[in-house]
Amino acid sequence: MSGEHHGTDATLAAQVRHVEALLEERGLVDPAELDRALEAFLARASPANGSRVVARAWLDAGFRARLLADGNTALVELGLSMGGGLQEQRLKVVENTADAHNVIVCTLCSCYPIALLGPSPTWYKSEAYRSRVVREPRAVLAEFGFDLDPAVAITVWDASAETRYLVLPRRPAGTHGLDERSLAALVTRNGLIGVAAV
Ligand code: FE
Repeated sequence: MSGEHHGTDATLAAQVRHVEALLEERGLVDPAELDRALEAFLARASPANGSRVVARAWLDAGFRARLLADGNTALVELGLSMGGGLQEQRLKVVENTADAHNVIVCTLCSCYPIALLGPSPTWYKSEAYRSRVVREPRAVLAEFGFDLDPAVAITVWDASAETRYLVLPRRPAGTHGLDERSLAALVTRNGLIGVAAV
C-alpha cells in the first residue's frame, strides 16, 4: 500500500510534466506564464487562509457543515481554492471535538495543504515525525507541549497526492463575542495540523 502511494505521486508528477511539455511544444502554453501562475499561487498560500476558514466555521454553523461535507466547494465561499497546479487536490476537513482529536501527516513524503497553510515546516517532512506520529501520536503531541486529555481519542490522517487534510480545532472557551478577524488571529499553523490545541 505504501509503495502504491509513492508510485501514485511519482506517476502523477510524471504525467503533469508530460502534459506541460506537450502544451509548451504546441505553443498552447507559455512556460513563463506557468511560472507566473505558480508564483502567484505560492504568494497567496499562507496559514492566514486556514485560520480564516476555521474562524468562519466557528461563527457560521451552516458554513461549518458545508466545509465538513465538501471542503473544496466551501472554500470558494471565502474566495479560496486548493488549486494552483494543473489539478485541484481534494480537501477533507477533520473536526476536533470534546472526545476526538485529529492530526495530519504524510507518512511517505510531504503532502500538505499548501494553499491553506503555506509551505510546510521542516519537522513535518522529517522521518521522525512521519513515522512516530502514527505509532505514538500522544507522545509526539506532548513533545509539542500539547498534553491531550488521555480520554480523548486521536485519529491520524495520512495525506496523499490527491487528498489533503486540514484540522478544524475546537473553539477556545471565553471567545464568545469575538469577531471573525479576532478569532482567526487565535488559530495557529500547528493547530491546523493538529499538534496544538488551536
Ligand atoms: Fe506525500
